[in-house]
Amino acid sequence: MRFSTNGIREVVGDRLTPASAVAVAGAIAQVAPRTGPVALGRDGRTSSRALSDLVAATLALSGHDVVDLGLLPTPAIQYNVPRVPAAFGVAITASHNPPEYNGMKCLDACGRSIPAETERAIEAAVAASASCAVPFDRVGELRTEPAGAARYLEGILGQVDRERVRARKFTVVLDCGNGATAVTSPELLRRLGCRVITLNGHVDGRFPGRPSEPNERTLKELIRAVPAFDADLGVAHDGDGDRTLFVDGQGRFVPGDKSLALLARDAARAGGSRAVVTPVSTSQVVEDVVQPFGARVVYTPVGSPKLTKEMERVDAVIGGEENGGVVFPQFQLARDGAMTAARLLDLLARSDRSFDALLDELPPYTLVKERVSCPPERALPVVTAVAREFADGAHRVVTLDGFKIFLDGGWMLLRPSGTEPIVRIFAEMRDPASARRLADSAVARVRETLGN
Ligand code: MG
Repeated sequence: MRFSTNGIREVVGDRLTPASAVAVAGAIAQVAPRTGPVALGRDGRTSSRALSDLVAATLALSGHDVVDLGLLPTPAIQYNVPRVPAAFGVAITASHNPPEYNGMKCLDACGRSIPAETERAIEAAVAASASCAVPFDRVGELRTEPAGAARYLEGILGQVDRERVRARKFTVVLDCGNGATAVTSPELLRRLGCRVITLNGHVDGRFPGRPSEPNERTLKELIRAVPAFDADLGVAHDGDGDRTLFVDGQGRFVPGDKSLALLARDAARAGGSRAVVTPVSTSQVVEDVVQPFGARVVYTPVGSPKLTKEMERVDAVIGGEENGGVVFPQFQLARDGAMTAARLLDLLARSDRSFDALLDELPPYTLVKERVSCPPERALPVVTAVAREFADGAHRVVTLDGFKIFLDGGWMLLRPSGTEPIVRIFAEMRDPASARRLADSAVARVRETLGN
């Protein structure tokens, strides 16, 4: 099994078997430092408890002490790793994947995603079928730590003006998608004085309510519920709770880069000239709203490990992705869905405007996303040739992940997909017709270049 952009994810009973789980756990046992216990936590999938127990047993029989944090959102596991304190962490989760998947995400002693070198070392240990079984007198201790959720919630509450939020008595419809956040987010919002109506608010690894990837298509029920309950807003998490997407009071789905823009502006206002970090695929709206506060936007390739790494390098004030993953570095260097919801409520509590009004005041942009089939070996040369044409007359070209070309009134992004035989084309302009025109002309040029 191999690590992808965010840990190992496989289908249970297919590639993820008792034997393969023990093999990976044995490899983790080889690589994890022995300077402290390994902290272990899991999401609410049907296979998570069993996999967690297999991993815990393998680690203990390999001489590691294990602290089991139990069922928690991934950011809560990450927050607890350095506070146990543990030398290494493992989260049993497949994030937003369908219910048949599960996986493992490995964490360093700070609770952050492990670097690529450590992933390669674990893969090599799996390939070598290495075992580090210890004799009876060196078997590790297994201990459960039931206070992880409470510690995490206290941590978040310490990051917001709790009394000010409580005073506003927000009504929030919360859609946990039957994921791990059902054990933390309802209580968090209640402790922030909200009237909380929950959808899919019990943990069920079959995800009966909706797919665990939150988007405009999967959040139909929340979109209906928010105006029906006359709520201030709707909050939706993905399966393991590292992401949050919002619905406004009128029941309009809020694209993740708009909520990121509000949170980034708030952070930039407080943080002065520090950097805001986001992938190249994020809307111009983020740059527009933070620039007046002297903050600069630093772009990264797509993918959250790259985001947090760059945030650390440039000492960013905030970072985030259009899929609803936002990182608040003063809390922890990890995407955190509950923290995202709490900070948005804190921002609303300090504003005299509604969530809807704040969204309507953001600069309007239309982002058109297109894809063109392309053999993988031709993707980069084709993208490079087409980008060169459009770069004529550009203000700036960012070449971190494909080509992001800044033009009058907007930008376009041309990049080969990392996972599929396609070229991705994004075009964003203030008015919808210009965005459409720009995307169409890029699609046409990619097709023509491919045809030659
Ligand atoms: Mg996730």
